[in-house]
Amino acid sequence: MKGSNVKLFKPSSFSFLFSPFSFLSLCLFAYSLFMLYLRGLYFQMTNIQNLLQKRILVIDGAMGTMIQRHKLTEADYRGNRFADWPSDLKGNNDLLCLTQPEIIKNIHLLYLEAGADIIETNTFNAQTVSMADYNMSSLAHEINLAAAGCARAAVNEYLEKHPERKSEPGPFVAGAIGPMNKTLSLSPDVNNPGFRSISFDEVAEAYYEQIDGLVQGGVDVLLIETIFDTLNAKAAIYAIKKYFRDNEMAELPLMISGTITDASGRTLSGQTLEAFYTSVQHANPISIGLNCALGANQMRSHIEELSQIANCYTSAYPNAGLPNALGEYDEAPSQTAHFIEEWAKEGFVNIVGGCCGTTPDHIKHIAEHVKGVEPRQLPIMETEL
Ligand SMILES: [Zn+2]
Repeated sequence: MKGSNVKLFKPSSFSFLFSPFSFLSLCLFAYSLFMLYLRGLYFQMTNIQNLLQKRILVIDGAMGTMIQRHKLTEADYRGNRFADWPSDLKGNNDLLCLTQPEIIKNIHLLYLEAGADIIETNTFNAQTVSMADYNMSSLAHEINLAAAGCARAAVNEYLEKHPERKSEPGPFVAGAIGPMNKTLSLSPDVNNPGFRSISFDEVAEAYYEQIDGLVQGGVDVLLIETIFDTLNAKAAIYAIKKYFRDNEMAELPLMISGTITDASGRTLSGQTLEAFYTSVQHANPISIGLNCALGANQMRSHIEELSQIANCYTSAYPNAGLPNALGEYDEAPSQTAHFIEEWAKEGFVNIVGGCCGTTPDHIKHIAEHVKGVEPRQLPIMETEL
């Protein structure tokens, strides 16, 4: 390697670099630094995966149900900042991240105290398309940023109170990406089945902005959830991949959760569970699962099927039973936990929690019932035919 003519071009003070021994040491040093850097990246990306190998993780319960308990008025939703907003704002739950951040943070804290390892940001509808209902599209990015901030603040406060929890990674903040109020696969006009109220690019653009807010706000994971139209979810996946590529960032772990809406076991856009799984598998999520629409009892056969086909971790967070005549959920925490404990023991699940109608009490029961139960093992995939 070392030629005398090379030496000629270098100042003599650096010549030690070119003695074979020093050069090798330098290379080794640089190599170790690089490996340390890679290791850092690896652990940053796989904190949640490390924990998933060890135990079943618990995701939080319903945000809406807990907000309802506060019986907030139109004025509460508006706060000072939007006191003169021209349209009604009551019901815009995601806006509360801006106008009532203490309430949102405290709901997150209740779920953390109940035993949640993953809390979801209050951003189910926080993209420009859904926010248009309140003429608040321009606030979508800010809401995502603030929502991630509320959740992060709750995690920090929780860890201050429970330093013993620091012995393992988490709790984690999942940036919640909902299905949007317009669908790409279905026509809203019964007389014109080919009509679409929105395009793939428009959906992707709305999600891209939401993702930017969530990532900048400091979420640990992105969660595309309550997917009833797989094409919307694909637009979200596309936006996520593009976002991290555009910004030259390591991708955050991705969780994907679909919704089975009828007894035939299909999504609203007509896919079977296996078709849904196959459609989103390319995104390489850390977990795939089901949430909403069904109670645990009705979800059982579907989560069993999914656990058999998924080559990643599985998640399930059902509603608190089916709604009663008044649209309320009244399955008791012990009942929900009883169903979920059985799934855990059967080895169907890696992440469990609750959707509509579930409360911190449900999450507490679920966490207690799955504690110590071995998590589902990832299947060994055949690499050759
Ligand atoms: Zn739900």
